[in-house]
Amino acid sequence: MTELTSLILDRIRDVPDYPQPGVLFKDITPLLADPVALSAVVDELARLAAEVDKVVGIEARGFILAAPVAYRAGAGFVPVRKKGKLPAETFAASYDLEYGSATVEVHRDAFAPGDRVIIVDDVLATGGTARATVELVKRAGAEVVGVAVLMELAFLKGRDRLEDVDLRSLVIV
Ligand code: AMP
Repeated sequence: MTELTSLILDRIRDVPDYPQPGVLFKDITPLLADPVALSAVVDELARLAAEVDKVVGIEARGFILAAPVAYRAGAGFVPVRKKGKLPAETFAASYDLEYGSATVEVHRDAFAPGDRVIIVDDVLATGGTARATVELVKRAGAEVVGVAVLMELAFLKGRDRLEDVDLRSLVIV
């Protein structure tokens, strides 16, 4: 196991039955609170984001990671938000979650034509959120060069929904 892998695994807390029975929630707040782990994770994600124009963060925990990654990589930050939160004209995509369903949106003018984009989130579960976000970014005229997550839950097979995408997971459990 690499040093980064154990830094991450030791600082993600499993919370059973949150937000509903049967879900094992991966709580990243202990990792965020640790300055060594936080900077190691941001640096690693920024390495993956080298030479992109924009880093997309998925609401809400994706924002926490994507904004410092964008800063570190010298890129811009673009939020993908849950329905109704963005003030200007949007594109929208709906999808099924591990728990419930949701719609995500991005501003229609978030990207310059042909912008190279990496999408960042905390956890990849079923892959529905990341898949919808890939479609949104493409619809808004940008090129998805990759999806990067802190933790991939392999048993939910989210990777299968992202076969056409360069998916990088800092840890796979
Ligand atoms: P999915 O669309 O199923 O891949 O779900 C991914 C989104 O839901 C991410 O934005 C995660 O933050 C959140 N999520 C899904 N399952 C979990 C989990 N078990 N623990 C923490 N976050 C989760």
